[in-house]
Amino acid sequence: MFRRTISAKVSLEGRALHTGEHSKVTFLPSPTPSGIRFIRFENGEKRILPANLANAAESVRGTNLKKNGTSIRTIEHIMSAAFGLSLDDLDIEISASEPPAMDGSAKEFVCALLKAGIREKRQQKKNPFSISKQFEFVSRESTYKVFPSEKFSVRLRYLNKHPLIGVEEAIYSEGDNYLKEIAGARTFCLMDEIEFLRARGLGKGGSLKNVIVVDSDKFLAEGGLRFTNELARHKLLDFLGDLKLLNLNFRNFSVEAERTGHEQNIKFARILFEKLETQEDKWKRDYRKVNL
Ligand SMILES: [Zn+2]
Repeated sequence: MFRRTISAKVSLEGRALHTGEHSKVTFLPSPTPSGIRFIRFENGEKRILPANLANAAESVRGTNLKKNGTSIRTIEHIMSAAFGLSLDDLDIEISASEPPAMDGSAKEFVCALLKAGIREKRQQKKNPFSISKQFEFVSRESTYKVFPSEKFSVRLRYLNKHPLIGVEEAIYSEGDNYLKEIAGARTFCLMDEIEFLRARGLGKGGSLKNVIVVDSDKFLAEGGLRFTNELARHKLLDFLGDLKLLNLNFRNFSVEAERTGHEQNIKFARILFEKLETQEDKWKRDYRKVNL
């Protein structure tokens, strides 16, 4: 398996979900095996933020990157698109502190990246990682169970006491059509969370064009729900985006996750790295130094 990047540059722009700023992202091919990197120009200076666990910062809603005083928030939908397309190396120039929300899903990012074209780098190999022993990670109310299996897969359950939700489940398995099954699932919030978000200065760019709002007795979503389990599919989209902070080629294990959230996903990703098996111990040590 060879590392993958894109063939040409492509841009997208729009309003950011939380800051409400106008934002433009430009995806650029990356000839070197340098991973997924966000690039910002601040006061004429180029700041590079590798999207890895070392730079991942906690947030109320979403996953942020922070390095040397520069931060970029809500990176998870772009990261999920990179996961879905199995892209290893990608530079992302960004004009603001948050990417554009687009329609609240990863669909438009995936379509733009596909339009740019995917290129395999025949001289650079991916690092395959697998797991041979099962384990469980529990943090607050989140549970993650990992089992050895033939191919990589995730079964995610989203639980909410809201009468319209209850239990929703979504599944992703290596080889599934990410664009068709996962990428289009939009972000959501409950009607009574809106005040909480606004009070924290969040959701300034949110509208029914990019968020599903769960009202007391109905879903408010532009064009109606895209899937009956769209909320669970979106939680799965977010989970894959957070796992992409490891930027590794997962093989031979499956994850069963329940009540996931970004903070717990990031903790889980760290544990997962320690459990992953590779033939090269030195590689693992070096990787840990740079990325964790
Ligand atoms: Zn999300």
